[in-house]
Amino acid sequence: MTDAAIRIEGLTKTYAGGRGAPEKHALKGVDLTVPRGSVFGLLGPNGAGKSTMINILAGLVIKTSGKVTIWGFDQDRNPRQSRASIGVMPQELNLDPFFTPRGALEVQAGLYGVPKTQRRSDEILEMIGLSDKAEAYARTLSGGMRRRLLLGKALVHRPHVLVLDEPTAGVDIELRQMLWANVRKLNEQGMTIILTTHYLEEAQEMCDEIAIINHGEVVAQDSTENLLGRLDGRAMVIHPDGAADADPVGKGITCHRRDDGALVLQYRSSETTAEAVLEAVRAAGIRIRDVKTEEADLEDVFLALTSSRSRASAAS
Ligand code: ADP
Ligand code: MG
Repeated sequence: MTDAAIRIEGLTKTYAGGRGAPEKHALKGVDLTVPRGSVFGLLGPNGAGKSTMINILAGLVIKTSGKVTIWGFDQDRNPRQSRASIGVMPQELNLDPFFTPRGALEVQAGLYGVPKTQRRSDEILEMIGLSDKAEAYARTLSGGMRRRLLLGKALVHRPHVLVLDEPTAGVDIELRQMLWANVRKLNEQGMTIILTTHYLEEAQEMCDEIAIINHGEVVAQDSTENLLGRLDGRAMVIHPDGAADADPVGKGITCHRRDDGALVLQYRSSETTAEAVLEAVRAAGIRIRDVKTEEADLEDVFLALTSSRSRASAAS
């Protein structure tokens, strides 16, 4: 298939151990496909291997084995084309302190062979909100401004795929919103986006598709919707109108009471319908003042997948 933005097959990375430290198997045979046009989330706990994978895509880390195809170009056979197809905003703030934002964008464009007439530094400076800092030394910029400049640098060669490694870790709300607004706009214009984030809520909101990586292995890859559907646990929270002496009973329904008088009815959507739960409530003579249902969120899925896996590999 050539319709993937990124295709990763059997990717491994082993870092050599130095000074008596053992070698580190950061990626242990990863297969991953990122569809074109998607906003793709790469999630995993610290040390899972996310940055290693992203830095391999960016050409900053040399893989140990496996195959990486970017926009249809094999990274080993077509290094130039594959590199031109991707722009990466790294996790680390690695900026030359003596460049101005405009200078940094121009140098980056030069590295990617973008001809002077096709450069668009002004447009990018405008987009990242640094027009008025265009001629300031990078070392005088705030952390947030440096982060925005890194985003700008990733865009100089109009890549098909934009990769953002923890773009919102430790940034303020304003910058986070600006980043997401930019990401949405670029995606609407057709750019494929890959991002890692610690904030599961953010991934749930932003991403069409998600891969969860743990200890150098992909433990799940699916649409955000399907991933959430994997946990079919539901809870219905009922505030009774008047007395509620008896517990509702029904197959697959468990009931507990909260201090505020609410009844929490847990059930599986695969076994029981919400309607059947409500019937059980009425059958117990309970009048309902208010009701709401709660579904599993990405955090539940994430914990379910990464905690069982870490137990398994701790035992091995
Ligand atoms: P993540 O981005 O998911 O937090 P990383 O890819 O940064 O994870 O790291 C994966 C594992 O590889 C970690 O155990 C980390 O300590 C190790 N690692 C990362 N970079 C190096 C390196 N340059 N040398 C040795 N080990 C490394
Ligand atoms: Mg990282």
